[in-house]
Amino acid sequence: MSDSFWPDGYKSCFNLSFDYDSNSALMRRAPLDIVAQSRGRFAPNTAIPRILDLLDELDIKATFFTPGWTVDNFTESCEDIVARGHEMGAHGYLHEKLGEISMESERGVFLKALDSFEKIGVKPTGFRAPYWLISDRTLDLVQELGFTYDSNFMDDDMPYILKWRGEDTGLVELPVEWMMDDWPHFETHRMTPKQVWDIWKPEWDGIYRLGRYFGLTCHPQCIGRVSRLDMLEKLLRDAKDRGDVWFATCEEVAHWTRKKLS
Ligand SMILES: [Zn+2]
Repeated sequence: MSDSFWPDGYKSCFNLSFDYDSNSALMRRAPLDIVAQSRGRFAPNTAIPRILDLLDELDIKATFFTPGWTVDNFTESCEDIVARGHEMGAHGYLHEKLGEISMESERGVFLKALDSFEKIGVKPTGFRAPYWLISDRTLDLVQELGFTYDSNFMDDDMPYILKWRGEDTGLVELPVEWMMDDWPHFETHRMTPKQVWDIWKPEWDGIYRLGRYFGLTCHPQCIGRVSRLDMLEKLLRDAKDRGDVWFATCEEVAHWTRKKLS
C-alpha cells in the first residue's frame, strides 16, 4: 500500500504512553501495607525524573494517564510532566475498578479526577480505565464529560472511530493490548528485559512493515528500573533511527484519526 494513513508521509506511528499509577491502587487495596506503598513511590521519586530526561534526550512526547490521587499527592511531579510538553490523560481517581462500582460512584470518580487536573491547569481529552476495565455506563460518562478519545479496547491495531450500541460515539479509540503492556511481563511474570525485548521487537518490526499503529503502555514504577528503561530506550532509538516513524501523543493520534476518517 503506497498511501499511508499517517500525516506528512510517515510510514507508521509509535505511541508511547505511561499509566502513572504511583501507589493509588495500593492505597485502595492495601492501605496498611507500607512497604507495598513504597513500590508505588518509586515512580515520583526516581522513575519519572529518569523517564522525562530520556524523553527529552530523544525528543519524544508521551501521554501520561494519571489517577487524580497521583495528581493530588505528587503534584510537582505532574506539573513537571506538563511543563516538559507531555500530555496527561484521565485514569480514575484511586485506580478504581469501574465495573464494580455504582453509577453514582463512577460519576463521582470522574468528577473528582477532573477536579484534581483542574488544580494543575489541565483538562484531559483522553480516558483510559484502570485495569482496562469499564462498566456498561463508562462510555456514556466519557462522552458526556467531553473527552475526545478512549484507550481501552483491544480489537484492532489501528485507531478508529468508536461505535457503542450501534451508534457513533464521536470518540476516537486508541486500541491497546496486554502484550504491549510492561506490567504483566515484568511484574506478574518477572521476565527479564531481554525476554520482553523478544516480545516487543518483532511486534514493532511487523507493525512498522505494515504501516500500522504501535501503542505501548508502560508504568513508571515498573519500566523505570535501570535495565528495563535501557531496553525501552533501545526500542525507541530503533524506531527513531528509521526516520519515517511518527512519534505522536494519544491526543495527536486521536486528532489526526478524526480528521482522516470523518
Ligand atoms: Zn493504571
